[in-house]
Amino acid sequence: MWVSKLRYETVIGLEVHVELKTKAKLWCGCSTQFGAEPNTQVCPVCLGLPGGLPVLNRKAVELALTTGLALNCVLTADCRFDRKHYFYPDLPKGYQITQFYHPIGREGWLEVEFADGPRRVRIKEIHLEEEAGRTYHLPAGQDGGAASLLDYNRSGIPLLEIVTAPELSSPAEARLFLEELKAVLECLEVSDAKMEEGSFRCDANLSVRRPGEALGKRVELKNLNSFRALEAALAYEEERQRELLAQGEPLRHEEVRAWDEEKGITVYMREKERVADYRYFPEPEVPPLAIPAAWVQTLRRRLPELPMEKRRRYLEVYQLAAADAALLSRRKAEAAFFEATLRYYRGSAQNVANWILGELTRIMKEAKQSVADLRFSAEDLAALLQLQDQKVISGKIAKAVLEEMFRTGNKPAAIIEEHGWQQISDPGTIKTLVRETLAANPAAVEDYLGGKEKAFAFFVGDVMRKSKGRVNPELLNTILRAELGNYTAAGHSGGQGGHEAG
Ligand SMILES: [Zn+2]
Repeated sequence: MWVSKLRYETVIGLEVHVELKTKAKLWCGCSTQFGAEPNTQVCPVCLGLPGGLPVLNRKAVELALTTGLALNCVLTADCRFDRKHYFYPDLPKGYQITQFYHPIGREGWLEVEFADGPRRVRIKEIHLEEEAGRTYHLPAGQDGGAASLLDYNRSGIPLLEIVTAPELSSPAEARLFLEELKAVLECLEVSDAKMEEGSFRCDANLSVRRPGEALGKRVELKNLNSFRALEAALAYEEERQRELLAQGEPLRHEEVRAWDEEKGITVYMREKERVADYRYFPEPEVPPLAIPAAWVQTLRRRLPELPMEKRRRYLEVYQLAAADAALLSRRKAEAAFFEATLRYYRGSAQNVANWILGELTRIMKEAKQSVADLRFSAEDLAALLQLQDQKVISGKIAKAVLEEMFRTGNKPAAIIEEHGWQQISDPGTIKTLVRETLAANPAAVEDYLGGKEKAFAFFVGDVMRKSKGRVNPELLNTILRAELGNYTAAGHSGGQGGHEAG
């Protein structure tokens, strides 16, 4: 029987690796600073030399517990570790210390706003482990043959693996989940969560099935280095597997495939390992660490407002547009600046959000700066918006003032004074400017009277140019209409009349 490919269901689960933001590594005191000279942040422990003894970094456990709380996990009462054996040159001990039998958190969830509304995605477990080193493969060149170089600076950096249940049903959902998770981690300040530096990485498992049938064989996708890559790789793999199923050739083995960014395809790497391949056993050199309830209570009290909670509040309390509430709630510093501005500003919250997400974000991006670098305060931004509301300056001038505030840190009132940017709201002055423009452009006046509405915008532009954008736009509109009306009344109505007759 022919079955439409569209009737297949896609099932996606994610495994996210997050480098925790500790100063020292998980088992030794070596620095975790990114970008140092290769092999300068190493010691016998993280190099896996004989006799090196691991000592657990308490801060890493604390960050893992904090993440577990935010992800609504059941937390373990004692923190234990296991050895996972495999051979690779960037893993000098020949095994990785991880948590297999007792993950630090289980059975959590994260609520995500999907296209069809909010839904909880279950988190199967989160567990602590250590990073491996980094391998750089050099192609053959003038100096000789191909070579592989090893950098152990990363070896032993604490890593948190977050495993979701297979509950995401499309590449777009996978991306939304990952974006929400990243926002949570940034909000908690447990990780830099930078995909481009590798401190936030994601593998994805995908399978397809006919509705109601058991889960199909899954493929694990690697080398997903950006949100875009994640979505594109999943979309490619989804289509590939549907095609195979439609041809009656479902996958026989679970396999690992890599995303080839350039070609836009997934490429077979190897068959998926089985758990038994790793010969897990309890790590004998790290004693269990008891986690007292009081410690967890303290961490729970310190939890900040999470992005989803913030988004709800912005919708309910401030009535922000949904997209703006979502954007702002995921940017911690911007959100704090938004709320600080509202303490001084009497206008609408949406106006403040527009300015922060629009003009201010644009300026900061251009200057490669962040909210922390701002030389003016939330109170200054409030004052600027207030001046615009009071029509002391136009919206266009307000943007110029904001640029000056950004550059100099000066107060908006002082900047306006210094540049003579106050809005012209005196009808007599505006009338004079309008009359000058009309007198200087008789052809355009004829066009207008002949029915060309575009000429009106030309006059507005001309007056604004002459006044350097300072004329009150609403008054200008009214006065310009009135003045043009005078021309019509004075007998130039032939154009419009002719237009009707013709
Ligand atoms: Zn070390």
